[in-house]
Amino acid sequence: MTTFCPTCEDYRETKTVDRRETYTVRGRKVTVPVKAAVCVGCGESLGSDEKDQEVLREVYAAYRREADLLTPERIRLIRKRYRLSQKSFAALLGMSEATINRYEQGGLQDQAHDVAIRACEAPEFVRDLLQRRGNLLSEWQRQRTEKALAGEAQPDSEVMDMLDDLECTVMPREVTDRTGFRRFDQKRFAAVVLWFCRRLNSVSRTVINKMLFYADFLNFQTATVSLTGSAYRRLQYGPVPTDYGQMLDWMEAAEFLVCDEVAYPNGNTGYYYRAGPKAESLGVEFTAHEQVVLERVADALGTLAAKAISDRSHEEAAWKNTEDKKIISYREAMSLSLSLPK
Ligand SMILES: [Zn+2]
Repeated sequence: MTTFCPTCEDYRETKTVDRRETYTVRGRKVTVPVKAAVCVGCGESLGSDEKDQEVLREVYAAYRREADLLTPERIRLIRKRYRLSQKSFAALLGMSEATINRYEQGGLQDQAHDVAIRACEAPEFVRDLLQRRGNLLSEWQRQRTEKALAGEAQPDSEVMDMLDDLECTVMPREVTDRTGFRRFDQKRFAAVVLWFCRRLNSVSRTVINKMLFYADFLNFQTATVSLTGSAYRRLQYGPVPTDYGQMLDWMEAAEFLVCDEVAYPNGNTGYYYRAGPKAESLGVEFTAHEQVVLERVADALGTLAAKAISDRSHEEAAWKNTEDKKIISYREAMSLSLSLPK
């Protein structure tokens, strides 16, 4: 195999040479063994971006050993021990998600950050952080970390990790009339979607959004708390959860859902969802009242076509009283056209 040599201005054979290279990192000289590809013709080393990256990783690793800094794997392990997502871990430590991500990917950490992350090796330190800054986390995340601190066994599946990663959704995390006074709970959101998919076998994206809306608002009307904590935006085609695209994509990636694409004669594509192979692993149980709410929504709307459900949602005060693209207040649930039988 030959490589283009800029010195010879031609393709040349290369050979691998073992040598030591010295770099300066934060004022400290670091020497690492490097396998360099050298042009057989002129003896110049032929680098590449990939090779440079590889060397840089080696240099950082050597620097970390000498300066006694945590390895990227160690940082990741500390975080995982408390079942924290990168975002939540960063929030507790007062760092940005991008920073934690960079460190876990091999970026060289700041000395002060290293001290803070290392302190998290001690559960008491994390317990204290959780007490003081836990309000920055989602309810679900906080409970998960509390359980981890209490030493409770928890599923450590890929699915749960993906659930963690989903914390970067743009869903509002507040507990107000915009969320039905529940902190958004992605697990419950997923469970409601799955409940309808099972009950109705296959549900279009449009219908799922409307079912969620009616279920959340009906639950609020009857229990003054929403089912999922989702906020709904008034869009042209009706109320939709603010972050439904990302939620459904994630549920599909986690194999909670299977998506079937259907080509319509007009050239549009329809997306239909049904329960996927991992649906059982979600493990959310609804209360008796919540079950009644879900049944009521399925009975009232489950047999209607997407267009009919959409039309009905346009008659709701919730939709009419809200400005286009704005978030709908759950206070509108009081005048919802759907109610529970007395
Ligand atoms: Zn050459």
